Amino acid sequence: MAYGHYSARVTRVDRVTPHMARVTLGGLEDFPGAGLDHRVKVFFPLPGEERPIYPTGDDWWERWQVEPVRAVFRTYTIRRHRPEAGEVDIDFVLHGDTGPGSRWAENAGPGDQVGLWGPRAEYAPPAHADWVLLAGDETALPAIGAILESLPPTTTARVLVEVASEAERQPFDLPGGVRLTWVRRDAGESLVTAVKETVFPAGRPYAWVAGESGTVKQIRRHLVNERGVDRRDIYFSGYWRRGVAQEV
Ligand SMILES: Cc1cc2nc3c(=O)[nH]c(=O)nc-3n(C[C@H](O)[C@H](O)[C@H](O)COP(=O)(O)OP(=O)(O)OC[C@H]3O[C@@H](n4cnc5c(N)ncnc54)[C@H](O)[C@@H]3O)c2cc1C
Repeated sequence: MAYGHYSARVTRVDRVTPHMARVTLGGLEDFPGAGLDHRVKVFFPLPGEERPIYPTGDDWWERWQVEPVRAVFRTYTIRRHRPEAGEVDIDFVLHGDTGPGSRWAENAGPGDQVGLWGPRAEYAPPAHADWVLLAGDETALPAIGAILESLPPTTTARVLVEVASEAERQPFDLPGGVRLTWVRRDAGESLVTAVKETVFPAGRPYAWVAGESGTVKQIRRHLVNERGVDRRDIYFSGYWRRGVAQEV
């Protein structure tokens, strides 16, 4: 799937939970979906701009790098894609006034303009997988939600999602073989410990792990070293790094 640049306008903003804003973007009639955890780079306007200004085309990256004033972008998951309406939903974690992505989402309203570049997807359980492990924090929840909503009814899955508090949980209808555990930081719980304490179903898993970079690394190490999961059956990605703005 070739990546493309797309211009979009906010049509609606909802608070899914106190710290999660669902931003609906329209004007995306040509946007192609790429898969369940498809992600895009979202370009935000700089202060004073009505829309983000940046080079497009195949060589945009090289040109962007030498721009005197570079447009700002961050990576986000397409939570839902409605091709017939030319719309996507993106769920933004509101982690405070500390980064351009969170700041933009906190203040976003209908008519605001952004640019998208992408999409690309990674979730790809191999045919030999007997069951699926999904583990992540709030930043991974949009992808986990999309995956959960598409799981065949016969799937066996263990799903662990770390959130700040009870209020950040989201409701899902789960197939019978899927067990979802909410891990609450305000209760002193951690995703790493929760994964370590999970009783794994029999058979060979496919693991999809995303969230804070250090946490993701620890979980991958545990899966490989202590659970004997084949490295090739693990997708893992640091979606953000504590104390560090996203590297582009
Ligand atoms: C493939 C992929 C998909 C992603 N999908 C989503 C998504 O759907 N929704 C989403 O909200 N995020 C998603 N992320 C994570 C998001 O890109 C990062 O959280 C990004 O750093 C947010 O940019 P920012 O401008 O808000 O903060 P930055 O400018 O990047 O960082 C500023 C400060 O905020 C801290 N910070 C960044 N993110 C968080 C956080 N979540 N919680 C607490 N502190 C944080 C940083 O450590 C830094 O100190 C995804 C990342 C990847 C790689």
